[in-house]
Amino acid sequence: MSRSAHPAGPRHADVLPEGHYSAPPADLNSLDPKVWSETVTRDADGVLTVGGIDVKRLAEEYGTPAYVLDEDDFRSRARAWRTAFGDNADVFYAGKAFLSRAVVRWLNEEGLNLDVCSGGELATALSAGMPAERIAFHGNNKSVAEIRRAVEAGVGRIVLDSFQEIVRVAHIARELGTRQRVQIRITVGVEAHTHEFIATAHEDQKFGIPLAGGQAAEAVRRALQLDGLEVIGIHSHIGSQIFDMSGFEVAAHRVVGLLKDIRDEHGVELPEIDLGGGLGIAYTSDDDPREPHEIAKALTEIVTRECEVAKLRTPRISVEPGRAIVGPTAFTLYEVGTVKPLDGLRTYVSVDGGMSDNIRTALYDAEYSVSLVSRSSDAEPMLTRVVGKHCESGDIVVKDAFLPGDLAPGDLIAVPATGAYCRSMASNYNHVLRPPVVAVKDGQARVIVRRETEEDLLRLDVG
Ligand SMILES: *Cc1c(COP(=O)(O)O)cnc(C)c1O
Repeated sequence: MSRSAHPAGPRHADVLPEGHYSAPPADLNSLDPKVWSETVTRDADGVLTVGGIDVKRLAEEYGTPAYVLDEDDFRSRARAWRTAFGDNADVFYAGKAFLSRAVVRWLNEEGLNLDVCSGGELATALSAGMPAERIAFHGNNKSVAEIRRAVEAGVGRIVLDSFQEIVRVAHIARELGTRQRVQIRITVGVEAHTHEFIATAHEDQKFGIPLAGGQAAEAVRRALQLDGLEVIGIHSHIGSQIFDMSGFEVAAHRVVGLLKDIRDEHGVELPEIDLGGGLGIAYTSDDDPREPHEIAKALTEIVTRECEVAKLRTPRISVEPGRAIVGPTAFTLYEVGTVKPLDGLRTYVSVDGGMSDNIRTALYDAEYSVSLVSRSSDAEPMLTRVVGKHCESGDIVVKDAFLPGDLAPGDLIAVPATGAYCRSMASNYNHVLRPPVVAVKDGQARVIVRRETEEDLLRLDVG
């Protein structure tokens, strides 16, 4: 099922396994609401509009490629998560999915908290006015300077990831004359992937302290002894793009088991557990993500049940969705540059961006969908691969896509569900300039992250 089945390139595409791509959709002009943000529609001329603005106008004003972000959709997803978990739980948006000052302000206004995992993300959050006590600081190798900055700022929690970090954070907090609230990140022995979870080989990874062999219990023991730390809970994050709740069930069971051991050994009931993020979204019409209220209900029930069995007070739950909030809110708008039919194989459609604005296809073999958006078309579907402009044959945006047979240079196409891990992972490969993020709402568009310029590139290059 993987592109690596034909590493040599397009000439080998005929070895694609049976069923690698689905049949063409009945109507190429339809826009599946599962993969497009809530205000997306086609106008009477067949042009896609979002937030009341058509993409031809967006392309004229802001150029292509561009990430177009639907602010109403972002806010309503954020609100849905917050409402679903109510007042007995905390929702932390995972900033690494996509962070900018506008996004921080929206989160603040919608009552969400924020995860950061570097000094840069922390600086962005603070500069946009997120109250420090609503920030959680993550990472497996936070520098001493980053920790110091976070403690000084007064972040609500630091998630400790190693034995060294327990001592490091305690030391810095004491030096600064404070007690830092911390959670300890553990690995529970579940690694979740799309549609399934694997309960082996899970601890062989860089994050967290293994529950196995009593290591997590030992970490808690040490942290509880240090004056500089206030241990508020246990943290577990089991993976990304997860649809199946059973991985969370196993994780919650094991985290609660640890809380019980801590109570039995130290006589303390830690007040919080964080179950991480990783909830999946629809990249194509084949994906069926859960709604926030279903997820909240399932997680709350699991934790409550496990705590009843263990005779523990139910701790306050927190969750950390990143992709599930921002992923579906944006699409990438590209202009078609060349259309190259390869006889008997497929047609290669080259766009004016590529792996520099969306590395996920190359990095994770991610699936995306794509539509012609500057007009509708009744032409027969053709099997295409949408590729970028980089000097690399793995520079693929959408592996297998059906687009109208009359697609031509100058047409605009858009790849939906690129709000998460696209701009935040964007690079300057080939000295390509990173695209802007344009937020749209109520007929207004505004740039929230501007397009990079050649001047930006040359400013860093000091000769
Ligand atoms: C990446 C990450 C998240 C967010 O993951 P999504 O798949 O975007 O929901 C949450 N918590 C932690 C600790 C992470 O590393």
